[in-house]
This record gives sequence, C-alpha cells and structure tokens, in this order.
Amino acid sequence: MSRLPGVVTLPADIVGQPGNLPRHCSRHGLPAIRRQDFVLQSKVKIEGNRALLQSNVIGMSERLSDFGKKVRTADVKGWPLCRKCTNTRALWLAVASVMFFGGLATFVGSLVVAAVADDMQWLGGVAFAAFALLPLAAFPFSLGSLPRLTGARTSPDGASVIIEKPSQAFAAELPPAQ
Ligand SMILES: [Zn+2]
Repeated sequence: MSRLPGVVTLPADIVGQPGNLPRHCSRHGLPAIRRQDFVLQSKVKIEGNRALLQSNVIGMSERLSDFGKKVRTADVKGWPLCRKCTNTRALWLAVASVMFFGGLATFVGSLVVAAVADDMQWLGGVAFAAFALLPLAAFPFSLGSLPRLTGARTSPDGASVIIEKPSQAFAAELPPAQ
C-alpha cells in the first residue's frame, strides 16, 4: 500500500473482502450509516488522433475490443457511506430519473396528443425538447455515481483500488501497510 500525498492505494483483494474498509466515509470523514457493494472500473485513455484517421468499421471494432481489454474492474465490498454521501446520491439519482422519465413521458405524451389532435403542431417542438432532455439525465446520474462520490477508481492493471484525497478519518482506519 502506498501513501502518496492525497492518494491512497489499496490492494484489490483487500477491498473485495467485507470488513476491511474503514467505518468513516472517504469523502466527508463522517460515520458510515450504510455499507455499499459495487464494482469499480479503471479509467481508460483512448488515443484520440488515431481514432479520427481510422474511421472505418473494422478500425472501430478493433478499438472497441481494445477498450474492453484495457478496462479493469475491482469488486468493492462494504464501502462506508455517511448520511451526506447517501443524501447526495439519492438527490442526484432522483434528479436524473425525473429528467429521464419526465422527458420520456412528455415525449411520448406530446407525440400521442399531436397524432390525434388537429392544430397542435407546436407539440412537435415539445416532443423535440423532451427528447433532447433525455441524454442530459446522464449528468446528474454521474454526479450521483459511486466512483464520483467515493473518489475511488481501479488502477490500470486492476490489482489495486486508488482513492483520491480520502478524508483523514477514512485514511486513519485503513489496514496497515504490508
Ligand atoms: Zn460521506
């Protein structure tokens, strides 16, 4: 386990067993009110310039399979989440689902009404606006995502979990370096 300033690295097999993680959350340092199991992915750097040149389908599928090979995941068991973490997560997920399902309902509803009613062409604009809202739901969704909340990600080789700027209470309770 390394202790670079602001970054803590834990072996993936320690994080993957329940009971090894601190009792305080990594973000706020507050006592955990619940434990969450999830899967963390590694970040993948995609080489951008080549992607522009090889725009054929074969190049694309090769890149996608490269991407699949480069992504590493680590199981996380019993990550501590405090009241603030769970509230933040619940809030952003609620905003995301209101945007998504509200947008979807408005889209379908305005199309249905426009199909049966005369002189209501403006509903097409409503449908378009609602449709444009759907992908935007990804932003609040990612704000409420566990990697974003916890500040953790899997290392590029998949052997460890990297936690950026953990709270002092979290760092103090980590298993000792081996
Ligand atoms: Zn927290």
